[in-house]
Amino acid sequence: MAKKPVLYFTPRDGERDGERDGERERTRLPLPERDDGSVSLGENVCCPSCGVRGVKVSGGNKRISQDDLAYESDAYCTSCREFVGELRLEVSTLFGLREDHAVLYGRCRVY
Ligand SMILES: [Zn+2]
Repeated sequence: MAKKPVLYFTPRDGERDGERDGERERTRLPLPERDDGSVSLGENVCCPSCGVRGVKVSGGNKRISQDDLAYESDAYCTSCREFVGELRLEVSTLFGLREDHAVLYGRCRVY
């Protein structure tokens, strides 16, 4: 059974959050119900750049993650277009995403 994809958001390095130990916190987001190209970070979350409440972000510069298990993209505020963090969509993969892509979408290979 394929597991459902899981979406995470990691905020960019905060300039005014002061010190925070260790890694930046990442938040699990609900998957958007409609694919309108943006996802809300939560009703009470404000954009660190323009301060809009209930900030929505859209992804750009999509890539396969270093660990080959997820898609990552930069997250931009839909109001001010500033870079606010990173989105990571973890999906089920058989052989790692790069290999899956080669198998599923690649041309037939002759050995
Ligand atoms: Zn903004």
